[in-house]
Amino acid sequence: MKIGLLAPDSHNFPNLPIMKISAFYKAAGNEVEWWRADEEYDVVFCSVIFSGTEIPQITNAKRVEYGGSGVNLENVLRPEIEHSTPDYSIYPQYDFAVGFLTRGCPRLNHAQSRGGFCITPDKDGCVSRKVADLSEFWTGQKKISLLDQNLLACKDRIDLLNQLAASGAEIDFKGGMDARFVNEEVAAILKKMRVRNYFFAWDDPKEDLSDRFGYIASSGIKNPDRIGVYVLTNFWSTTEQDLHSVYTLRKFGLLPFVMIYDKQKFVDEHGKWRKGVEERYSYEALRHFKVCQYMQRWSASRALMKSCPDFAQYDMYRRMLEGDDRWLPPALRKKRTACGG
Ligand code: SF4
Repeated sequence: MKIGLLAPDSHNFPNLPIMKISAFYKAAGNEVEWWRADEEYDVVFCSVIFSGTEIPQITNAKRVEYGGSGVNLENVLRPEIEHSTPDYSIYPQYDFAVGFLTRGCPRLNHAQSRGGFCITPDKDGCVSRKVADLSEFWTGQKKISLLDQNLLACKDRIDLLNQLAASGAEIDFKGGMDARFVNEEVAAILKKMRVRNYFFAWDDPKEDLSDRFGYIASSGIKNPDRIGVYVLTNFWSTTEQDLHSVYTLRKFGLLPFVMIYDKQKFVDEHGKWRKGVEERYSYEALRHFKVCQYMQRWSASRALMKSCPDFAQYDMYRRMLEGDDRWLPPALRKKRTACGG
């Protein structure tokens, strides 16, 4: 068979399902190549990661199979394809191994189906379970990119971390790590591992992770200023709760990264209000978003946080607190001026 591969939204990172499909069908003796509009194919496999991606019209194949989380959350690869070693030759521009050792995440309170913001527990299950040994997708590369959503929550974490440490490769954990599972045993293996930067997450303000982050900062897995922590804002937390997380992390020398939920719906890529935003959101929602944006800018600069450790004194936020309304979307500002407000 002649097979075409298509990954329309995988521009800056290799498409793992497509690499596995390629490996599987090549091993079975098929002719496999990237899809081209001027060729004829027996089958085209199209893998879409993000919903809303524009997919080119495919009219030159007897059969087209679509898959990926951009299509729906139910489709999965057949086990014999899922466990194929990826075909790295189709992405010569990348020099790292990529894959999952585990799938799933037990943080059900984050699940979209329960009012949260993450598709993982719904898509991959609410238990972090081992799905592969490292040898399944690592073929000796000097770098390994791990896509696991919550490796540390897996009951086989010690075995898997030991496999990673033994590889001697530099490990890039793509998913935020779960601070609750870092204990002495885990920290001891992490210290043997080559990891450039760590990224943890503090998503739920109701969860007090202060002790955990204090432990991580002092554990010696990395200098604290190479440990980033994503702080989710604009979703279910108040400004006070967000600030509590940011101040706590800074106290331990860790790097808070303020993440703003739905940011792209409020502002464009230059940080400017989107047209008509005042019709879609209430005044309170717009103001809360703006505070998150200020907090993001303030906390992203180590120098700024040092020279101005109190967020209330950060110029932009202070002016807002003093009643300056220049933060408002232009249409709302005009309206208030016209009303004498
Ligand atoms: S911990 Fe991460 S992967 Fe797990 S549900 Fe929360 S956001 Fe999703």
